[in-house]
Amino acid sequence: MTRRIFSGAQPTGNVHLGNYLGALKNWVALQHEYESFFCIVNLHAITVAQNPALLAEKTRDLARIYLAVGIDPEISTVFIQSDVKEHAELTWVLNCVARISELERMTQYKDKARKQQENISIGLFDYPVLMAADILLYQTDLVPVGDDQRQHLELTRDLAIRFNRDYGDTFKVPDAYIPKAGARIMSLSDPTRKMSKSDDDPNGCVLLLDDAETVEKKFKRAVTDSGTEIRFDESRPAINNLLEIYHLMTGQTPQQVEDHFAGKGYAQLKGDLAEATIEFLRPIQQRMREITDERLDHILDEGREKARQIATVTLEEVFQRTGLKR
Ligand code: ATP
Ligand code: MG
Repeated sequence: MTRRIFSGAQPTGNVHLGNYLGALKNWVALQHEYESFFCIVNLHAITVAQNPALLAEKTRDLARIYLAVGIDPEISTVFIQSDVKEHAELTWVLNCVARISELERMTQYKDKARKQQENISIGLFDYPVLMAADILLYQTDLVPVGDDQRQHLELTRDLAIRFNRDYGDTFKVPDAYIPKAGARIMSLSDPTRKMSKSDDDPNGCVLLLDDAETVEKKFKRAVTDSGTEIRFDESRPAINNLLEIYHLMTGQTPQQVEDHFAGKGYAQLKGDLAEATIEFLRPIQQRMREITDERLDHILDEGREKARQIATVTLEEVFQRTGLKR
């Protein structure tokens, strides 16, 4: 039987190089080997405040980005989370399996809650359970994500194992797929923090839709470390991050990258990085403009139907196992 992957991103802002290198790039590669489900997780997005009109727009934009970076709707299922109500329903059942104490340990929750002390929604706390529901609904084998989702994946596995133990074997227990390089791209303005869509500092992220001038400006302003040597070195997180991005954008090996920059200065590194990124983004931005509303609607309608077919079967089984079905 073909193995299955599931993954998603939130329509919370503009997709950045971290999202691409940590997640989307691997989705594109893996879709040929796996039966693939790529979701736009708008239910996750509303765990923090969103402008409704903007959220609706960002949701469609994110679907366009999936397609523009190379997700092929002929072989992969692309759909919007809120179109498949089973995600919310399974979340409720899993809420009754998850423990408050384990959710309190989630570092993403702690980080995001810290930013809005007075205004923490129950949804933000419950985010990882919704994510577990997303994954388990599709009997997923593998979940390609960035390093920041490692802990959520562990929780997903724990919930699946606990449910299976208490109610009988129902869910496949999924594995995380976290790439060796690119799993944690850091902010250009603060290399101790990951690049994030919801970052307040616009200079920290290079966006997939940035124009050439903006890309150049952002790399030029990027923070660097003390010292002048350009080589991979984890104790110099800023340069390490820039080199990792260059390595992934150009496909050169780390050794080739170091050879290329031997004896050169930071200005050269930043200039070459901007150039490689601009070249890389050009066709993506072009494809993004070419996707018509009609085509997008068609893809999302088909995606919803394909996703539902599987989600309903899993939820039916969960309802039977838990005594919720008459
Ligand atoms: P937000 O700040 O709203 O949480 P985000 O930038 O973290 O946004 P998500 O939509 O939460 O983006 O995540 C989408 C995917 O991108 C996930 O698989 C996540 O692990 C990955 N990802 C996010 N940030 C990075 C990063 N800096 N480096 C590598 N992968 C990342
Ligand atoms: Mg995130």
